[in-house]
Amino acid sequence: MFLPSNFKEKKACVIGLGNSGSAAARLLQKQGFQILMSDSRPLKEIESLVKEIPKGVPWEADGPGQEALSCGFAVKSPGLSWNSPVIKKIRNAGIPIFSEMEVGLSFSKTKHIIAITGTNGKTTTTSLAGEIFRQGLSFGQNVYVCGNIGNPVSNCILEANPQDYLVIESSSYQLEDSDFFHPQIAAILNIQPDHIDHHGSFENYIRAKARIFREQDPSDFCVFNSSDFETVKLARECPAQKLFFGGDPKSSHAWTEAGKIQARLNLKDAPISFTPPALPGRHNQENAMAAILIALASKIPVSAIQKALTQFKGVEHRLEEAGAYRKIRCVNDSKATNVDSTLVALKAFSEVNKKIILILGGLDKGSPYAPLKPLISKSAKAVLTIGMAAEKIENELGGIAPIAHCENLDKAVQKAFEIGEAGDILLLSPACASFDQFKNFEERGKRFKKILENYKR
Ligand code: ADP
Repeated sequence: MFLPSNFKEKKACVIGLGNSGSAAARLLQKQGFQILMSDSRPLKEIESLVKEIPKGVPWEADGPGQEALSCGFAVKSPGLSWNSPVIKKIRNAGIPIFSEMEVGLSFSKTKHIIAITGTNGKTTTTSLAGEIFRQGLSFGQNVYVCGNIGNPVSNCILEANPQDYLVIESSSYQLEDSDFFHPQIAAILNIQPDHIDHHGSFENYIRAKARIFREQDPSDFCVFNSSDFETVKLARECPAQKLFFGGDPKSSHAWTEAGKIQARLNLKDAPISFTPPALPGRHNQENAMAAILIALASKIPVSAIQKALTQFKGVEHRLEEAGAYRKIRCVNDSKATNVDSTLVALKAFSEVNKKIILILGGLDKGSPYAPLKPLISKSAKAVLTIGMAAEKIENELGGIAPIAHCENLDKAVQKAFEIGEAGDILLLSPACASFDQFKNFEERGKRFKKILENYKR
């Protein structure tokens, strides 16, 4: 419990209306705090969020006003940058600021806290770890999968009893705001340059990730990816017991061999062999290795780990199998909102030559598409472009594969089935954000699947 007990007398200002702000407000309200929710946006921009505000909690638009600036402490929405005018005002007023995750955890009855971070693979690994715990915990124990996965920690913290487990997907945004976060078991899957606009620099982003283990001690565990340069570098400063996956069998706690995952807690021990989930790509094996090490460190029985691995079907919109039409396999990877993720998808299908019909486009994120060239020229039969980024993509990738300008998903799918043949793979892995044509990547992926349904009928 880090939120000082005398804070109960102080009024909480929850900065930022939205899912995590409302969850924090609901929790603090239940704990008897006085709360004000404050958002710096004008009313017309936040109207849709107002209905999420817990009953009886006062709120303001165009904040922070005088009342907000005289609160005893603040809870910050993870999306707000420390350099944003609203946070600067709160800090200048001398108000201590906490993250929603930390405020939530300060009411936690359980110390069994597992936290997973990384640039890519957080949601998949968190979901898989959640499945393993669900399978392997004893009668009367529960697992709560929460955090950045779309279920704020504050939402489940009061339900979790001392014997229960929290498996928390932790983003760099939440970690950046957390000073006392102390998971018993942490994992860093990989670190690539990302969210630099929010953190200010790659170094700041790495420092945010390091907060996942900063409060750990030698009785805790932290899992690292040995094939990821920045992750390995960071491991040197970790005070917990370190578990490495993905490297040389002699120095790794988990590695792949002949299609199996070998894993052990101690380098001296004989490894235990696991069959990985039936999901495409090396990246999914890495996610599975991380989840297995987390489970072994939590003493989950091996048979339960294997059962969960076998049953795990992946997460929606991440290289999700979306059926077949005229023997053309359809894959929904709408979550691939940047070039790196699309690269990972193409690598996962790198054994197929010139059989991928790739849908690219949406809202451009400013990175070059050129890194996709080698894999597109090897594996793609055609590239179909959609959305606002279409022309940029066509200019940058022109000449390496046939490109068709399709404007939207409906036209792209239609085109794909015109040119596709049995054995081809239609892959939606757009390398772009979705906001030009959709509310979010989930809506884009669902739309893709809906269009496919119409063909299959
Ligand atoms: P996150 O929650 O970190 O965004 P997800 O599990 O939702 O990660 O996966 C997002 C995308 O990242 C997937 O579509 C996939 O292409 C890619 N990905 C998943 N796991 C990994 C990994 N371990 N390494 C690299 N890329 C990955």
